[in-house]
Amino acid sequence: MKVLVINSGSSSIKYQLFDMTDQTVLASGLLEQIGEAESRLTHQTRSLRGGMEKITQTATIAAHQQGFQLIGNVLRDSGAMQDTSELFGIGHRVVHGGEAFRRPTLISKDVISTIRQLNPLAPLHNPANLLGIEVALKQAPQVPQVAVFDTAFHQSIPAHAFRYAIPKELYERYHIRRYGFHGTSHHYVAKQAAIHLKRPMDSLNLITLHLGNGASITAIENGSSVDTSMGMTPLEGLIMGTRSGDIDPAIVFYLGRETGKSREEVEALLNKASGLKGICGANDMREIMQRAEAGDEPAKLAIDMYCYRIKKYIGAYGAVLGRVDALVFTGGIGENAADIRAGACRKLALLGIEVDQTKNNTVSNEIFEIQSNNSSVKILVVRTNEELEIATQTVECILAMARARA
Ligand code: ADP
Repeated sequence: MKVLVINSGSSSIKYQLFDMTDQTVLASGLLEQIGEAESRLTHQTRSLRGGMEKITQTATIAAHQQGFQLIGNVLRDSGAMQDTSELFGIGHRVVHGGEAFRRPTLISKDVISTIRQLNPLAPLHNPANLLGIEVALKQAPQVPQVAVFDTAFHQSIPAHAFRYAIPKELYERYHIRRYGFHGTSHHYVAKQAAIHLKRPMDSLNLITLHLGNGASITAIENGSSVDTSMGMTPLEGLIMGTRSGDIDPAIVFYLGRETGKSREEVEALLNKASGLKGICGANDMREIMQRAEAGDEPAKLAIDMYCYRIKKYIGAYGAVLGRVDALVFTGGIGENAADIRAGACRKLALLGIEVDQTKNNTVSNEIFEIQSNNSSVKILVVRTNEELEIATQTVECILAMARARA
């Protein structure tokens, strides 16, 4: 049962081909710099011995349509898939599903037009995601295709958590509210945690922390998202690689007045030049940790601020949930940076959260626990796998539609 997962960006296409009978990755790749003089494809195929064989290729790819043709050719030539008739389905990552999409959805003309209406909410992402959908539909019209939304998991958040305290017309007319993102990752690691803890997901209260270049934290009550730190856009919440996260909104007006920067310049400053990068000049956590180790003060401050913000949110979500069964760390930083996990949990014994230093230094691809014996809350480290989750949800959606039609 082959399923192709596509994450289409404005100048890139990321893809993974799964055999969903055993969830193995048959091939994966990234085509970058579409529309530039030279585009670059990095492709990996599972070899007969079980490892991945890597090839890179450069070509001139003017647009996504040609990009998909190139990817189809590489999948065929590498023996991963002869043609699209072998596909059970295609799953597309779509960043913003607004209030229209609460779950993965089989793509139709109506679905495409609804996603298009949501473009103003995610102008950088949704148009690029749609481009991928339209080209894939042209190239494989017979294959069922499913849109999997980053926002969908958070549609269970109640109004008292998703509304902003601004005039209600702004919500009704302009759809200004908290949507939340990284939903596919939060959902995936929550399900993995439930399997690990041998508890039904709908009995669990979790705080999931996705700490990658972007970062967000979610409160999950009885298996459903009830609050999350990203808001109408991914700018709100935790300190991220280059995004500020929470700031006083009046800073935006002050900046405009005092520096003469345009709206677009301030938007770019908060999204691309702030966060860890703004504080210490680097946005890669490995580099920041090395610099802090060597005594660099801005790097040390960046780490302190990063952990402090996470800790505040853990406290807030502890209060939201009342009972927390487990904290779940994921994303490049959450999975790998033991010092950041420890820093984020420091002095949280009040909430029953305490890290064991030795367990925290574990390095593993499997789920592992890092709480001390005194900790009433489990603390888990779980590797996220958004592509596998999109493939899983694609299969579930196609099977559910087939059952509904039967
Ligand atoms: P994305 O959000 O782009 O998918 P990732 O989830 O891969 O990003 O996370 C990238 C971040 O993870 C970077 O800040 C990187 O420095 C950090 N990271 C990856 N490995 C380690 C590590 N071993 N120690 C500390 N940080 C790490």
